[in-house]
Amino acid sequence: MKVRVRYAPSPTGYQHIGGLRTALFNFLYAKANGGDFILRIEDTDQTRYFDGALEDIYETFNWLGISYDEGPEKDGGFGPYIQSQRTELYQKYAKQLVESGHAYYCYCDSGRLERIKKIQEANKMAPGYDRRCRDLSPEEVEELKASGIQPVIRFKAPLEGKTVFEDEILGRIEVENSTLQDFVLLKSDGFPTYHLANIIDDHMMQITHVLRAQEWIPSTPSHVLLYKAFGWEPPKFCHMPMVMGEDGKKLSKRHGATQVIEFRKNGYLPEALLNFISLLGWSYNDKDEFFTMEQLQKIFDIKRINTSPAIFDYKKLMHFNGVYIRQSSIERLVDLTLPHYIEAGLVSKEPTAEEMAFLKKLMPLVQERLELINQAPEFSDFFFGELPPYKTWEMIVPKNVEKAKVVEILSDIRKVVEADFDVKEDKDLEQQLYELSKKHEVKAGAVFMPLRIAITGINKSPEMFPVMHVIGKEVSLKRIDNAIEKLKQEIAG
Ligand code: GLU
Ligand code: ZN
Repeated sequence: MKVRVRYAPSPTGYQHIGGLRTALFNFLYAKANGGDFILRIEDTDQTRYFDGALEDIYETFNWLGISYDEGPEKDGGFGPYIQSQRTELYQKYAKQLVESGHAYYCYCDSGRLERIKKIQEANKMAPGYDRRCRDLSPEEVEELKASGIQPVIRFKAPLEGKTVFEDEILGRIEVENSTLQDFVLLKSDGFPTYHLANIIDDHMMQITHVLRAQEWIPSTPSHVLLYKAFGWEPPKFCHMPMVMGEDGKKLSKRHGATQVIEFRKNGYLPEALLNFISLLGWSYNDKDEFFTMEQLQKIFDIKRINTSPAIFDYKKLMHFNGVYIRQSSIERLVDLTLPHYIEAGLVSKEPTAEEMAFLKKLMPLVQERLELINQAPEFSDFFFGELPPYKTWEMIVPKNVEKAKVVEILSDIRKVVEADFDVKEDKDLEQQLYELSKKHEVKAGAVFMPLRIAITGINKSPEMFPVMHVIGKEVSLKRIDNAIEKLKQEIAG
């Protein structure tokens, strides 16, 4: 039988990491098994509908390279794939369950349900609907109908026995039926609940495996009972571990970014996020962690989904991103960082050919240390303009070295640059700086750091001579001169 899996988000907000993990694992499972990946929009709770959620799903998929075989914009013969367009189908099946004795009309209004809840709370009783309407006499039904209340349809859960299902990841799961509720199938406005719509669609769309997060386990026994009531074969269930923050609590805003759109804005590369997400509750073996989308589509296997929670390690994601940045081409990095340079005012809104060429020239040096795309301007602002922003100016004077000595050292460096910058190799220039440190009887750092501050204004930067080649000899000399001048003024007080 062909594998058919689905991602069934409710459009209540922007895509978050947990949803993306579910989407990705379903997609990969389908691809690894020559199956179909279906996107179904579960928008039956109209009160929680979020405008833009759908767009965000499409954009997320596009960005990461996840594509669906069937879904809202790709009919595969099982549509529509948006639940609000399937209401009549759910109504028909809900009524069918009433007729077969598996469901019943409930006329309890919200006022009565509130009262029951209060009584249960006051008496420390288990919460839930008290099943008043489960066994109404025909006269009582007539009376309630006459009162004009729009009923809901509730499932008639068995009062005794057990419901058991085999989870592909967690093994056998069983619950006492006495703990289950007569849950609502169809609301009074005619819309189905998640439970009803979800299982009808999984059945109608011939879903073979339901891969979703463990938070849905409590719903599964009710679903199994519903399948039974309809006389349908349930799909296989595969419940994936929850995604947690480092404190072991469910991942939320408190931990950091959780929405895909935030990671996009914050400078993550799609392949880095994708690779990282693929490891949230899954592993290939005990050592390999770096995989491309193509590889994942071949090697993904639900047998290697973990049972224990997946910890979302932001530092590790950042590290992954750095690794992928270093694998990127310079052209791509220029493209991706350009909007950030423009925003930072370092490049004009309509970049000139010169500006583009300059970005291309400095990018290899930025690429070495960058971990997030949008850090590029702050990592490289010193390349722009005549003088750098002196962010750690005071570090131009190394420990135990006199300011006047720094002036002498910089003046000597200036001579080296003036004479040899264009004619000697970087390593020979460096060698001359080491010799200067001997001449002035200071550590090598007391030569390199003043130069670094003079050129970049910051104590951490790429290697000096490559930086100086990007800004050119003239600007380099100007910057050294300016540093000498500033120091002299300081000495003069
Ligand atoms: N609509 C549910 C959600 O928002 C789907 C759960 C499931 O996969 O059954 O996650
Ligand atoms: Zn009732």
